[in-house]
Amino acid sequence: MTAPTPAVLDLLGSFAPDQLPAYVYDLAALRTHAAAVRAALPAPVELYYAAKANPEPPLLAALAPYVDGYEVSSGGELAHVAAAVPGRRLAFGAPGKTPAELAAARAAGVHRVHVESLHELRMLGERTAAPGPGGGDSRTDVLLRVNLPVADGSLTGSSLAMGGRPAPFGLDPADAAEGAGLLAGGAYPRLRLRGFHAHLASGLEAPRLLGVARSVVAGALRLADRAGLGTRGLEVNVGGGMAVDYAAPEARFDWHTYGAGLGRLAAGYPGLTLRVEPGRALTAYCGWYATEVLDVKRSHGEEFAVVRGGTHHLRTPATKGHDQPCTVHPAPRPWPHPWPRPAARGSEVTVAGQLCTPKDVLARGVRAAGLRAGDLVVFSLAGAYAWNISHHGFLMHPHPGFHFLDGPG
Ligand SMILES: *Cc1c(COP(=O)(O)O)cnc(C)c1O
Repeated sequence: MTAPTPAVLDLLGSFAPDQLPAYVYDLAALRTHAAAVRAALPAPVELYYAAKANPEPPLLAALAPYVDGYEVSSGGELAHVAAAVPGRRLAFGAPGKTPAELAAARAAGVHRVHVESLHELRMLGERTAAPGPGGGDSRTDVLLRVNLPVADGSLTGSSLAMGGRPAPFGLDPADAAEGAGLLAGGAYPRLRLRGFHAHLASGLEAPRLLGVARSVVAGALRLADRAGLGTRGLEVNVGGGMAVDYAAPEARFDWHTYGAGLGRLAAGYPGLTLRVEPGRALTAYCGWYATEVLDVKRSHGEEFAVVRGGTHHLRTPATKGHDQPCTVHPAPRPWPHPWPRPAARGSEVTVAGQLCTPKDVLARGVRAAGLRAGDLVVFSLAGAYAWNISHHGFLMHPHPGFHFLDGPG
């Protein structure tokens, strides 16, 4: 799934010149991957997809048979995902939820609200003072998001630490204890405390992420105990953040080890539900950003291939500071000019986009001896945090095309 699949290459081969750049998603590949992830997670472990990684409706729908629900991070995502996969369970997380978003979550009957602060808990309590959509005393189920301390060094290697240190996410343990006490004491009769949530880091490999999950479960059990909740029926969402290695695109997060470990962890507490909510590691591998080389030039000893498009379409390498993995394919069309194609003379090129900024670099050190103008460059691992995190408006270039290949489902 790293080099473009045959289905993706076939489609690219059929394109007219004005059809690049393009995002191409292989939904059959996504289904195969999601099924393997699902199969690696034993029964008490639920799988939610963090929609912010890539909220394209065909991807949300393709994931539906394999996930228990979707995690949404704004009122916009809430409305979008509810429309794309109607009737599915939604968990609503994110800091800074507005009163209007909390009201929308209640009206939509979201499955879980992940509460991020005591103020937010009070606002939600106020919103739910009136009867909910089901009339009567329908309740809103909450998890308290906790920024738990973790053992020194256990987030080492993470590309993005969201907790275990000062952060705008979640409640400090003391505030979480106070919130849990308020809920358990019946301060908000239409709110029901279901458990705890923590998303502490992104980009960890299975053994380390399992260590984080153990700390989270231990912390959640302490909080539950203080609030007088048993473990039966308790839910602990241990977050997402499963590593995607852009430097080793063939490697995959070890779902088997992680799932088995979570299974052993849950088995210690009968009636406990564990939930994971990956984004990147589910969808990164099913998307490609394909474009063509417009020009090749030499500058102060380094060779550059300038492609149609750039980081305004695929911001991932700029934001994460990596080289986006890519493959180069010979020009599918004859050269229309009387002069020769600009071509690389050395063995390595830097692939840059069309933006007037030195930050518009998609990949350095690409081994592509003889690369020529007109060649196709296909970037992989572009299925998550790619188009939807990019600054599309900058320089007013046309948007790429979007194509969803649907093999046998
Ligand atoms: C972004 C996010 C996720 C998904 O993270 P990935 O690194 O894409 O797996 C899960 N939970 C929360 C709360 C998030 O903010």
